[in-house]
Amino acid sequence: ERLVVLITGCSSGIGLSLAVRLAADPRGAYKVYATMRNVAKKERLMECVKGSRKDTMDVLQMDVTDQQSILEARDMIKEKRVDILVCNAGVGLIGPLEVQSLEVMRQILEVNVLGTIRTIQAFLPGMKARRSGRVLVTGSVGGLQGLPFNEVYCASKFAVEGVCESLAILLQHFNIHVSLIECGPVNTNFLANLRRPEPDEETLTRVDPRTRALYDTYLQHCDEMFQDAAQEAEDIAEVFLEAIRSQSPALRYYTNSALLPLTTLKLAARDGSQYVKSMSQFVFSSHKAQEP
Ligand code: NAD
Repeated sequence: ERLVVLITGCSSGIGLSLAVRLAADPRGAYKVYATMRNVAKKERLMECVKGSRKDTMDVLQMDVTDQQSILEARDMIKEKRVDILVCNAGVGLIGPLEVQSLEVMRQILEVNVLGTIRTIQAFLPGMKARRSGRVLVTGSVGGLQGLPFNEVYCASKFAVEGVCESLAILLQHFNIHVSLIECGPVNTNFLANLRRPEPDEETLTRVDPRTRALYDTYLQHCDEMFQDAAQEAEDIAEVFLEAIRSQSPALRYYTNSALLPLTTLKLAARDGSQYVKSMSQFVFSSHKAQEP
């Protein structure tokens, strides 16, 4: 019997790649429900699965911030079950904290935290009743350690870590496995979709010059990170597959070993001072405008 997989946020990026990879499985082992907030954006996905065998994929509308749309999508599943739930939908937010509007911060938390929780809530009773299931979540380095100018995004991804780690403990008793696929930079629409104050926005001109200079340095650092260390969405899909195929999946999978030293540093010095110092050096060392 085919494994039924439901993925959120499939119009682009990691969600799209994973949907394509599973739908094109040579053994036809998966039935994929690729969900997206706006089904008008399904063309790219459809283009990518052209040529793979028929009826391995259905596209469903699902906005993770809309409870009704989650339940409606659930009702559309022909098999009446989901074996593997992939909570992938997410949005980034960068910029000096003091310019972030309450409205935008709420949106980020709404999608990343409550969206993930709501999706899990909808499929958990079924998995518990069947005493089987997988919950896979697209995690982030920003969920493991703080990153400057990413305070709200990190808060949201730290929250997701808390949800998953907590659930993993309980769900052991139901033969349900929770796994986080922890990503560093990935070449997707993430940067384009990322929320940030516009450079010409009035709010940003109100920020003190030192913060603005450091923010510029951060943006350069970000560009460099994406140029030097970014992975492709297809690489991330492979790590998802590793977790899916494992008989006893781990709670965390790290997709990018180049970033592990900083994560390890955080764990090694528990008072956090080493991490704060090293991260600051890592991000801002090229910063020219040192304060006199
Ligand atoms: P992406 O922007 O291409 O994909 C995110 C998807 O989520 C988009 O298809 C978007 O439409 C969807 N989405 C946003 N709000 C939604 C909502 N309310 N309901 C349903 N779908 C919604 O970027 P991506 O890199 O593929 O992002 C996927 C996940 O990976 C996110 O959770 C992100 O936080 C995480 N991540 C990305 C990176 C990176 O560098 N790209 C790094 C670490 C973690």
